[in-house]
Amino acid sequence: MKAALIVCDGMADRPIKKLGLKTPLEAASTPNLDRAAKLGVNGIMDVLGAGIPPGSDTAHLALLGYDPFKTYRGRGALEALGGGFKVEKEDVAFRGNFATVRDGIIVDRRAGRIDSESAAKLTESISGVLHSEKHPDVKVYLIHTTEHRLALILRGSGLSPNVSPSDPGKEGNPIMEVKPLDGSPEARKTAEVLNEVSRRIMEKLREHPLNIERERKGFYPANAVIFRGGGRLPEIPPLPERFKVRAAFIAVTALIRGVCLAAGMEPINVKGATGTTKTDVMAKARGLIEALETHDFCLLHVKGTDNASHDGNLEEKISMIERIDSMVGYILDHANLEETYIAITSDHATPISVRNHTGDPVPVVILGPEIIGDEVEVFSERSCRMGGLGRIRGQDLIYILMNYLGKIKKFGA
Ligand code: ZN
Ligand code: ZN
Repeated sequence: MKAALIVCDGMADRPIKKLGLKTPLEAASTPNLDRAAKLGVNGIMDVLGAGIPPGSDTAHLALLGYDPFKTYRGRGALEALGGGFKVEKEDVAFRGNFATVRDGIIVDRRAGRIDSESAAKLTESISGVLHSEKHPDVKVYLIHTTEHRLALILRGSGLSPNVSPSDPGKEGNPIMEVKPLDGSPEARKTAEVLNEVSRRIMEKLREHPLNIERERKGFYPANAVIFRGGGRLPEIPPLPERFKVRAAFIAVTALIRGVCLAAGMEPINVKGATGTTKTDVMAKARGLIEALETHDFCLLHVKGTDNASHDGNLEEKISMIERIDSMVGYILDHANLEETYIAITSDHATPISVRNHTGDPVPVVILGPEIIGDEVEVFSERSCRMGGLGRIRGQDLIYILMNYLGKIKKFGA
């Protein structure tokens, strides 16, 4: 028996007036998701807990069966791990953005959404020379992940992620001085290193030929890096050991890759998968079917629905849902449903009206050989409420799947 978990990031939504009070999932044409609903048992799920808006990282921890409230230690280290850096247990890492600063004020937090190629070049030219004169024992690594995104990793003794961000979160503000958030010498040391590194980065970027060229072309120069989301890796037992399964994942987004890697799952890279609304969903579907030949469990993550939701782009969200539907169609047609359990859900709602994550429950369906189905015929936030699964928590889902795979030990005699 095998299991697949398909996570459509931020797909769940709320009724929208413009759609006659339908949700995007209800308004989209989704014959294959509806086929899954008819075949399976449906329900709704509080990914972290009722009414708690999840981050994509904490949500995925929960979906993999870890208690996010006990294991989560910040975003930075997960992002760095997902971006390809071998993060160690005591490393403190931050999420970074290339930004544009003019006269001491941040005018663009994403440096005009600088392209990945330029951002990678800039990172390469500064990453080798970063260090702290005040704390020379601390090793400083800067890596590029995607577009304007970076990760900064600090390695050394006496560090702490408990410092304030340098990223003010909004344009029109100066870069903030990083401050310790507790009285510890570790937090103070980390803040000092981060402030010094931020200054050095600005010095290096100011005269960089690539930035001079960007200015000349009328683009925002990437002349600063702003930091937030300090953290360490979660200390979690590997999923393959916990459930005695060969586990893999297909995901492009660095943060999700980081969670899955931290859980000891094997990455499967699919050509054409981009982590955006332009992703090749059919390539991902084929990747999943192949992964199930060699693995017992595979998580498939699709990001585009969340991107469209943050942008408030209703049409794009609906069209992304329809592309996910065709992906699900391929999977249902090609998976061996006599030996495969498939769960489809969302890691949180990202309502178009809010343009951010909310704590609404998300729809979930599980289908497979020994599932007892229900009367639900449509996969949506509304109809799944009538399903046989009732209302579950995010952490329950993998146990339900692994129970069908015979991987959960009996509790008691
Ligand atoms: Zn998410
Ligand atoms: Zn999001």
